[in-house]
Amino acid sequence: MRMLTLAFLVMFSLPTFVSAQEKAPESDKALKAFQNQDFDEAERLWTQWADRDPQAFVPMYNLACARSLRGDTKGASEYMLTAIERGFADINQLERDPNLKAFRKTDTYKQLVDAWPTFLDRRVEADLDAARKTYGSRYNYTKDSKYRLAFASSYDTITSRQAREEVRRTAEWAYKNVFHDLRDTSDGLDPWVMVVLPTQSHFAVWANETYGQLHASATSQLGGAYAHDQKKLVTQDLGSTLRHEFFHVLHWRSADRLGQRHPVWIQEGLASIVEDMDQTRQGRWEPAVSWRTNSIARLAKQNKLTKIEQLTSMPRSRFAGSRPLSNYAHARAVFMYLHEQRKLAAFYKQYTDNYSSDPSGLTALLETLDTTTKEFDEDLRQWARGLEMVHEQNSPPALGIGVVFDVSPGDGPIVRQITHNSAKDAGLRPGDILTGMNGRSVRDLNEFYRVLTGLSKGERVEITYRRRSQHKSGTVEITGRK
Ligand SMILES: [Zn+2]
Repeated sequence: MRMLTLAFLVMFSLPTFVSAQEKAPESDKALKAFQNQDFDEAERLWTQWADRDPQAFVPMYNLACARSLRGDTKGASEYMLTAIERGFADINQLERDPNLKAFRKTDTYKQLVDAWPTFLDRRVEADLDAARKTYGSRYNYTKDSKYRLAFASSYDTITSRQAREEVRRTAEWAYKNVFHDLRDTSDGLDPWVMVVLPTQSHFAVWANETYGQLHASATSQLGGAYAHDQKKLVTQDLGSTLRHEFFHVLHWRSADRLGQRHPVWIQEGLASIVEDMDQTRQGRWEPAVSWRTNSIARLAKQNKLTKIEQLTSMPRSRFAGSRPLSNYAHARAVFMYLHEQRKLAAFYKQYTDNYSSDPSGLTALLETLDTTTKEFDEDLRQWARGLEMVHEQNSPPALGIGVVFDVSPGDGPIVRQITHNSAKDAGLRPGDILTGMNGRSVRDLNEFYRVLTGLSKGERVEITYRRRSQHKSGTVEITGRK
C-alpha cells in the first residue's frame, strides 16, 4: 500500500495488504492447534471461520491440509476445490506444501494441475464480469495477456492506454534490472491480476470497504494498494502509486514461483524504487532522486540513519508503524545504491538462491557488495549525503508555467488558476489536467517540479494536457512562480 506524498498532511500507516487470514480471530488459535496435532480443534475453528466468511479461501485450504494429513484424500479434494472456487490460485504452493503430500497422489490433484492455466483464464473472465457489474459500462475493460493483467479503467481510452504503457515500461525495467526470470509467462501458471483505475467515488467506496471507515482526508492521502490474496490492484494515481503497487505484483509473482515470503524492507524498498522514475541524459528511464532521497539525505547528514541490521530485521508492524517515511526512504536508498553499483539483479539472485539460509536478506546484501555491516552503513551514509536534493511540494522551485495547480490524486496536477498569458495562449483553462511536459510524463506535482529542474525562465516547452476526454497539447513559457 502506498500513501500519497502530500507534504502538508500527516501521513499515517495501514497494513499493506489486509488478508482474510489477518482479519480472522480464529487464525492464530487454529494454527496452534494444528501444530500441536489437535486436528479436531483446528478443523472446528477453520470451519467456524469458513462459515462466517464465505469468501475466505485460507480456512478451506487449511482444512484440505488437515484432511490430507489425516489420510482423508476425498475430504481434502473437496475442501481444495472449494478453496480454489473461493480464490486460491497459487499452484506453486499446491505443488510444494508438505501437508498436501497425500492429496497430491489423487486424480483430483492431477486433473487440477493439468487444467490450471484454463482455470486461471476462467477466473480472470469471472473477475472482469464482476468488475463490469460493480463499475458499469462507463469504464473500459481490457486484458493484457503478456503481463497477465486485466484492467478496469474509469478513464478515457487514451489515458487508459497511457496507464497500460506505464505498466509495460515498469515491467520491462523490472525484468531487466531485478527479476530476470519473470519475463516468461508462457506456461500460463501465474495468476492474472485485476488492475482497477477507479473514479474518486468508487475509490472512496473501495478504501472504506478495505480499511474501514476512513476520514475523507485519509482517503485522499491513500494512493492505492495491491491485495495479493485477491489479486487486485487499486490505485487512484496513474504515476508513482501505479508503478509502486505494480512492482508489488511482479515481486509477489516472483516470490510465489520461488515459494518464498520476503521481508518488508525488501518488498517496500523494491516497490519504492520505481516510484520516481525519470529520463537520464542518455535517454534511459531510471530511478530518480525524489522527496524520498531528500529525506534519506537529510537523515544521513544528521547521522540518524538506522543500522542496516535493524532495517533488515524489522517486522512489518514496526517498519510501517514507527517512522514509516524514514524506513521507506532508507529501504529505497539501499536498492537505489545497489542499482547504481549495477548489482541489483545480482543481489536478488544471491538472496533468492540462498533464501533458506538467510530470509532477512542481510547476508546476501553484504556478500553481493563484498562488505561488512559497519562498512555498508558508512558507505550508504556517504552516498546519501552526496545525493542531489530536488524540489518537492514543501520546497517548490521558483519557476512555473504560469498556472496555479491543485493537488489531487489522479492522472496529473489540476489547473486551478491561470497567472500568465502564455499559459492562456497555449489554451490552458482552469480544470485542465497537466499530463506531460517536454515529452516526459507528469502525474503529480513532484514530477512536475522535477521536470522543471534544468529549465530556465523564458524557455518555451511543449506540454500535454487533458480536458475531460480530450487530449491536447501546446507550448508554454517558463515563468517565475507566483
Ligand atoms: Zn508498498
